[in-house]
Amino acid sequence: MFDTLSDRLTSALQSLRGKGKLTDADIDATAREIRIALLEADVALPVVREFIAQIKQRAKGAEVSGALNPAQQVIKIVNEELIGILGGETRRLTLAKNPPTVIMLAGLQGSGKTTLAGKLAMWLKKQGHAPLLVACDLQRPNAVTQLQVVGERAGVPTFAPEPGNGVGDPVDVARRGIDEAKHAQHDIVIVDTAGRLGVDEELMRQAADIRDAVRPDETLFVVDAMIGQDAVATAEAFRDGVGFSGVVLTKLDGDARGGAALSVRQVTGRPILFASNGEKLEDFDTFHPDRMASRILG
Ligand code: GDP
Repeated sequence: MFDTLSDRLTSALQSLRGKGKLTDADIDATAREIRIALLEADVALPVVREFIAQIKQRAKGAEVSGALNPAQQVIKIVNEELIGILGGETRRLTLAKNPPTVIMLAGLQGSGKTTLAGKLAMWLKKQGHAPLLVACDLQRPNAVTQLQVVGERAGVPTFAPEPGNGVGDPVDVARRGIDEAKHAQHDIVIVDTAGRLGVDEELMRQAADIRDAVRPDETLFVVDAMIGQDAVATAEAFRDGVGFSGVVLTKLDGDARGGAALSVRQVTGRPILFASNGEKLEDFDTFHPDRMASRILG
């Protein structure tokens, strides 16, 4: 996904190579190229501004160190700042002291929430946990069945409203799902919630009601990295409407520019916990800011 950004940053930094000493003009010129590369990749403007200001300030103030030539020093600064906007340290999932740990998933329809539920369940199961999926997306036809199918593939049971009981109340299903987890000794509950095509108030209220009923240890906002600048606006709307403790980036295997997703951490102040990069349940892992920065810098 970040091939173009990666190429552009590499070439911006390439022009510094071989220089014995960097002038402020050299740094300004490189900073300008980095700025264009980030904006073209759809990184949000406030994030770009702060990033460039930091690079300039640090590169101009940098002491010439014995081990690194000036170009390497700037690359090191860019790398560190990139890790910074991606969240710094890897943030692990918070587990409840008294199980079950409740993880609620929120996001727009099509963001990859249901797939993510299966991925996360399988990943946790491999680590020795016993997750239960709870189907609270009662809006979209087939959402419950889809979660059950994903659960079966992951080898994890799904708690769902009984068929034939009408649409049902997602808050009630969520509550009963938690009871079921306690009863059947599941140590983790993953609650899938309804997503609409766009942000809407009813969706937010429903997600907030489920949140209040299940008091999640983690609320993960799932965002499709391919939706461009909308990712930032959607994240802000969910932060204000439902609140979330972490972000999951999906579809990082796509060929869209993806920079907006890279802005989500900085804009919302919430860490990115996981990344999805494909349709298969295995295409999923913990998000490591340092590895992502290295990948972007090539
Ligand atoms: P939901 O509406 O948020 O529950 O989204 P779904 O889980 O149904 O996913 C929507 C579509 O995106 C499906 O076709 C998934 O197979 C696909 N999908 C989910 N995650 C990824 C991913 O990481 N990469 C790719 N390429 N496709 C994905």
